[in-house]
Amino acid sequence: MDQVVGPKYGSRGGAGKAYNQSFAREVYRNVDSGEEIKMCMQCGVCAASCPLKEKMDFSPRKIFTLIRAGQREKVLSSQAIMLCTSCYSCKVRCPRKVPVVDVMHGLAHYALRQGYKPRAETALFGQKFWGNIYRLGRIDEKDVALRYFLGHGLGQGIKLMMENKNMGIGMLWYKRMKILPERPIKNVKSLRKMLDKAKAMGKGGAV
Ligand code: SF4
Ligand code: SF4
Repeated sequence: MDQVVGPKYGSRGGAGKAYNQSFAREVYRNVDSGEEIKMCMQCGVCAASCPLKEKMDFSPRKIFTLIRAGQREKVLSSQAIMLCTSCYSCKVRCPRKVPVVDVMHGLAHYALRQGYKPRAETALFGQKFWGNIYRLGRIDEKDVALRYFLGHGLGQGIKLMMENKNMGIGMLWYKRMKILPERPIKNVKSLRKMLDKAKAMGKGGAV
């Protein structure tokens, strides 16, 4: 039976509204770490900890609610699952030890397998982020940002740089970014071979 009774997400006191459990079961079966969602108690710590919460259409907590509410389309087309940057703030703070970041990435991969596409902006950022990892074996934040901004064209790129300059200055000030270019890690060629192999197996690649 796929219908159970409970409050509907987003309703005004919608107690008694039917939940559709079929999507939750689909997630438990097909998404990496999907079953861990069962442990979520909706405390909201992950949402409060996420540095990207302002940019996401749904916080991780809401994503889990939507899954339980059977909102397949909203979850799989959500930009939030594609935006997660693996900062791990949510995972280390979750009082129920839900591996939020793993579930978010599991959902993103599942959405891609189901034919959902990330928004152009997200895809562009993923491409530049991936390119940096491939070239250097690490992230050079300035390089990713520069390539991402210029990926919009020269004029728009300069405009984006000006809009985001305070963030860059803040990162330099707090030593979250270096002025000098990052050097490739040792044995970066071996890493590239592994990434090529993973990509060929369909498990790697851009967002
Ligand atoms: S912090 Fe953990 S328990 Fe709290 S809402 Fe997020 S996933 Fe659920
Ligand atoms: S790992 Fe992803 S979902 Fe979790 S806090 Fe960081 S950006 Fe947000």
